[in-house]
Amino acid sequence: VVSAQRIFKSFGKVDVLKGIDLEVQEREVLCLIGPSGSGKSTLLRCVNHLEKIDAGRLYVDGVLVGYRQRGDVLHELRENEVAAQRKDIGMVFQRFNLFPHMTALENITEAPVQVRKENKAQARERGRELLDRVGLADKADNYPAQLSGGQQQRVAIARALAMRPKLMLFDEPTSALDPELVGDVLEVMRQLAKDGMTMVVVTHEMQFAREVADKVLFMDDGVVVEQGPPDQVIGDPKHERTKEFLARVL
Ligand code: ATP
Ligand code: MG
Repeated sequence: VVSAQRIFKSFGKVDVLKGIDLEVQEREVLCLIGPSGSGKSTLLRCVNHLEKIDAGRLYVDGVLVGYRQRGDVLHELRENEVAAQRKDIGMVFQRFNLFPHMTALENITEAPVQVRKENKAQARERGRELLDRVGLADKADNYPAQLSGGQQQRVAIARALAMRPKLMLFDEPTSALDPELVGDVLEVMRQLAKDGMTMVVVTHEMQFAREVADKVLFMDDGVVVEQGPPDQVIGDPKHERTKEFLARVL
């Protein structure tokens, strides 16, 4: 579903991604781990063209992200074309950024109705199903301020799922939460993985990565240091930098 080939990205003089390769197959969960500043969020943001890559090729579902290729020349897509590509990619951030003036259910139905032009009654029905799926069937009419951080994050996941994405991106979805709220969010993600969603997850939750990931990719300083099955990368890392990192987070 995701294929990245030799991705480079700089901010001014700072080289943040220095030739990243990665592949995520359908129904796979890839966990991205690495120290602060290693480029994890930037890489994730490149996948849905929130950041433009400087070089390399990035495909989601076989389609070049953000560009159209004619011969050897890449033409940047227009904003509405980029938006059309993003419809298939759900993203959940560290901060829940729900619309504060809308209820949980309204947050979920907004994009399906406005962007996908779904019928309002059907969107609401599906919104309730999604709330049920994330364990919040009784919170449909609550505003974000009336929900805990963990509940807000689960609404954010339901909101992303409402667009029927082919791919879900998570950027440290639990790291802004109080410890006792982390488990419910991880459980929703675990279930989503079980149901076959293709996911890329930036996380510091090593236990989750070990249990749920098909592949773990350790990044440091803009390069992939090592990647492979969790038992290998987390359980038996080969590189010194991976070992050091794990010693700090485990
Ligand atoms: P963390 O674990 O702290 O979230 P990260 O691995 O997600 O870190 P990034 O957020 O991708 O790291 O940042 C990588 C580097 O790129 C950092 O040095 C950061 O300062 C820089 N950077 C990120 N976004 C920008 C930006 N918009 N402008 C300039 N520099 C940026
Ligand atoms: Mg980050």
